[in-house]
Amino acid sequence: MPKFIFIAGGVMSGVGKGVATASIGKILQSKGYKVTAIKIDPYINVDAGTMNPIEHGEIFVTDDGTECDQDIGNYERFLDINLTTNNYITTGRVYQTVINRERNLEYAGKCVEVVPDIPNEVIWRIKKTAKITKIDFVLIEIGGTVGEYQNLLFLEAARMMKLKHPKDVLFVLVSYLPIPRMIGEMKTKPTQTAVRLLNEAGIQPDIILARAKLPLDEPRKRKISIFCNVQKEDVISAPDVKSIYEIPINFEKENLGSKILKKFDLPIKKRNLKDWEKLVKIIKNAKKSVKIGLVGKYFQTGQFTLMDSYISIIEAIKHATWFFKRKPEIFWLSAEKYEQNPKLVKELKNYEGIIVPGGFGSRGVEGKIKAIEFCRKNKIPFLGLCLGMQLAIVEFARNVCGLKEANSTEFNSDSKYPVIDVMPEQKALLKEKKYGGTMRLGAYTCKIKPDTLSARAYRALTISERHRHRYELNNEFREVLERKGMVMAGINPEKDLVEIIELKNHPFFVATQFHPEYKSRPLKPHPLFREFIKAAIKNNSISH
Ligand code: GLN
Repeated sequence: MPKFIFIAGGVMSGVGKGVATASIGKILQSKGYKVTAIKIDPYINVDAGTMNPIEHGEIFVTDDGTECDQDIGNYERFLDINLTTNNYITTGRVYQTVINRERNLEYAGKCVEVVPDIPNEVIWRIKKTAKITKIDFVLIEIGGTVGEYQNLLFLEAARMMKLKHPKDVLFVLVSYLPIPRMIGEMKTKPTQTAVRLLNEAGIQPDIILARAKLPLDEPRKRKISIFCNVQKEDVISAPDVKSIYEIPINFEKENLGSKILKKFDLPIKKRNLKDWEKLVKIIKNAKKSVKIGLVGKYFQTGQFTLMDSYISIIEAIKHATWFFKRKPEIFWLSAEKYEQNPKLVKELKNYEGIIVPGGFGSRGVEGKIKAIEFCRKNKIPFLGLCLGMQLAIVEFARNVCGLKEANSTEFNSDSKYPVIDVMPEQKALLKEKKYGGTMRLGAYTCKIKPDTLSARAYRALTISERHRHRYELNNEFREVLERKGMVMAGINPEKDLVEIIELKNHPFFVATQFHPEYKSRPLKPHPLFREFIKAAIKNNSISH
């Protein structure tokens, strides 16, 4: 029987529950156990595909094409495993299954009720994931904060599982301890309240991860222990850190892994976090930096800059930079400002490499095209991702092939030169407003042309990468683009679709229709990001 660890959050959102979950997984994995993780999102949305990245953060995509929460990305990066649709549960998914089953007469005439039928479906899904993946531990992160109406049914599922398998279920509460400026002291009361709320749901936490700006001191550990009914050694200090990759190491300073194993009566094997420790050393000590500019649009929410919408790209840049023992400096460059004032594009000279990431809708598109043109002409290393590739093609068609009105039909449906367009079978679906079936999602094969930058980067000629887009390079224009020097470096063999383009006579100009960022791992940087950063470092040594 696998073991189940539920992770819930108290006090407020955004304190790093996802990373805490991934870190617990990392520790158990480092002790020789097989781990998987499930994210529960208490939304009615069936998946994250319909959510705005500014509101919800990045939409992560798995190999099987599930559009899910960015925490799945954290799990994949920390645990170095590929997850599937079984690792993602939303309220919408659960209700959809139960309702479909009811319509199919599968409840044999019984009254179908919120309790226990909804929690039962949640439990069924969790157990199914455990069975398919044949693992030792399933970590289940319950989204939201305890006390919310929205995640109650998931807590109910957790409680029911504990009742049925008392020896196989553990509860972790990730709480937050504020240090209000006017008081200057770390307060435990919100955590006490959070535990009460959890108790109301019939759950007693076994371990409390105390997130705070600073480490927890003894008096506070004691206080939480007494008021929250948890052994003192099970109150784990989780202070802010410079890099999230430090967290497993910090947890291990308090022997969290051994404590969990002891509770389950499992043998404590020696820990082996050596590679991870080496990485954290590099992260902390790297002196020389690499300056990368990200020309995007999903940054601003009110007065705050939101990095979450591009989290996998940011992590991929970091992984590749650390590989060269450098420290990344990432700059947010709003594409719209180049639209309003094209002269500003000159500032791109201040960066060693430029990324134009994916996106939907016309806002900022012309600004991104200006940025790409500048990188092409000024030989600044450039990496285009998804929309970034499509716009690199539009720019090249307009400014090198002389097709002045070239565009993607996403932005101009009557374009004279629709160099980026949807495939005919998608057109039919779009006409009927069946948007659901029109995205190319998940992993597809790509054949790489030998003797290209991509071939050298991957050191392979057949690869698989993840997609999330509707539009493609229109094959009618392939020849004219190639004639003018664009290299079609990667092709999907089944549908003959261009997946990677490159330019010669440029230190690094590569753009991909897929999203390489989803597959970068801290200890295994993605080959294209690695080569991009290598070119950026070279650019740095030329210009400084
Ligand atoms: N909007 C473009 C498309 O749908 C690009 C999508 C993306 O960048 N993820 O094809």
